Amino acid sequence: MHSQPIDFHPPAEDAAPFLLPATASLFAERADRFAALAVGHSLGDWLAFLGQLSQAQQAALNALPELSLPDATALEQARTHGMPPLNVAARPVAWRDVLRGMAGELATTAPNGAASVLATLAKADDARLDKLADTLLSGEPEAGDVAELPFVAAALQVVFTRLASQLDVKQLQPLDVHAVCPCCGSPAVASVVRLGSAINNLRYLHCSLCNTEWNVARATCTTCDTDKAVALQELEGSELKNAGAVRAETCDACKSYLKIVYQDKDPQVDPVADDLATLALDMLVDEAGYQRSGPNFLLIGAYSG
Ligand SMILES: [Zn+2]
Ligand SMILES: [Zn+2]
Repeated sequence: MHSQPIDFHPPAEDAAPFLLPATASLFAERADRFAALAVGHSLGDWLAFLGQLSQAQQAALNALPELSLPDATALEQARTHGMPPLNVAARPVAWRDVLRGMAGELATTAPNGAASVLATLAKADDARLDKLADTLLSGEPEAGDVAELPFVAAALQVVFTRLASQLDVKQLQPLDVHAVCPCCGSPAVASVVRLGSAINNLRYLHCSLCNTEWNVARATCTTCDTDKAVALQELEGSELKNAGAVRAETCDACKSYLKIVYQDKDPQVDPVADDLATLALDMLVDEAGYQRSGPNFLLIGAYSG
């Protein structure tokens, strides 16, 4: 008889606590995932356009030079106070040109509604763009700005992903609050259960802004830390291609939820793209009384926190 060894992976002690973003391919892979998810999807046109937006983010990131990190004193101060090293209120000014560049490029191929928004953004002055960024990061978008905010977010993602990638992972430390990024302090968009030699089956939260990931034990609520009241919900009988690879982790103690995506079910799964291709799952858990704990900045309306 042939017996198979049990594929046991030791718990998190030796696992990388933080994964900084892989700038060479991150947005390009997301673009491919959006394109794949768009095929045959009821929101296919929108997902395909977000694929183009992700491609534009990769091109902008490739063209972006190194940015200035906070100086040694500021980094040490953040460390001492248990704060993330990057401060989203201190945006590198380069983000505005990233936005204008992407907007100008996408305006020619975007669907009608988005094209006029992009044309306006491409010509917007600094003050207008900074106001939009403040609105986005305050978490309280005004109805009149909603159409512009996903593009503002896309540009900010590019610069903060660049900044995060320039940090030394030794400059990061776990924060008391699990649901926010130890690199930039933004909320997580979703969790990823990863494949890979040293990180197999471990759960990482993925930053909604800078694309850094951090390890948090599985079956723990990322909002209130309980491990007693957590359950996984999925779309049963769904025809969505990625339905089996995406679940919602709900917590009955604090009534929050966040999606969790599984690389062993689909190695190409992406926390941002797969989240937006499963809005039906958000509706299901919203109706059951759970509130989403982190935004997807490419769809501001999905987040009411
Ligand atoms: Zn972050
Ligand atoms: Zn909870």
